[in-house]
Formats: sequence, C-alpha cells, structure tokens
Amino acid sequence: MKTASTQAPPENNLNERLAHSGLRVTPQRQQVHEVLREKMDHPTADQVFMRAKGKMPEISMATVYNCLDALVQCGLVREVTLDRGATRYCPNMQDHSHFYCDECGSVYDILQTISPEDAGIKLPRGFRLKLIETNLHGHCPDCAAKAK
Ligand SMILES: [Zn+2]
Ligand SMILES: [Zn+2]
Repeated sequence: MKTASTQAPPENNLNERLAHSGLRVTPQRQQVHEVLREKMDHPTADQVFMRAKGKMPEISMATVYNCLDALVQCGLVREVTLDRGATRYCPNMQDHSHFYCDECGSVYDILQTISPEDAGIKLPRGFRLKLIETNLHGHCPDCAAKAK
C-alpha cells in the first residue's frame, strides 16, 4: 500500500455520482474507477491505461482519458499535478496534502492540511482563503532507509 494514513473511500457511490452529473455508467468508467481505488498510488493516465488494459484488453487510451475526465467531473477523482511531469489521479476526496518522494517519484496522501486560521497568512483585503494545500517533498520511508 502506498497510502500512509488513509483508507479507500466507499465505492458504492460511483453509479450515483455519475448519474447525478448526467453521465452514463459504463463498464469502462467502473473499471477505471476500480483501478484507481485498487492501488491509491496516484498513477498517471498512462499507468491507469496499462492497469485497466490488463483486465479489459479492448479498452483504448482515448477511453481511459474520457473515463478519467468523467470521474473528475463528477467529483470522485481529482487531478494532482506535480511541478514536473504528467497529471496524476487521486481517488481520495478528503482534504489532504501530497508527499512526493524525490527519489522514487511515489506520491503519498498525507492527511494534514493547514487551516487558514493557523497559517498566519496575511491576505489583501477582499480575499477569502478556504484551503491551503501543501506539497511536501522529501524521501519516502523506503528511500530514506536505503539512503542510510
Ligand atoms: Zn521513495
Ligand atoms: Zn492524493
């Protein structure tokens, strides 16, 4: 498991959420959602495609993109962008920060967000802060152990 401190969100709301957003439930969308939930390691679209293909050989890259878009649109998955590199996908919709391992490139969910009250950030007049999302960089436990 790549997640340090979180559990997979309930899966049963997929159909409901798709329908709610006016999107069709398709086996491909279900498959892509399953792939993301199975291993919450923030895969890129390419990686999602490879994994989905293993179970659904006829699925195409274009379909995978379409499925990911649909899942993002209905709020079941969110896009995570690293400073460099491809967009990754995260099925954890709780407020959380991401810890990037600079050594192996893994991305971990860290359930810690700084509340706007605690941050001590002085905003110009008129701005209202709702959420601070932090990107943490460093070494994951595996890489930290190897570096010793
Ligand atoms: Zn690492
Ligand atoms: Zn995440």
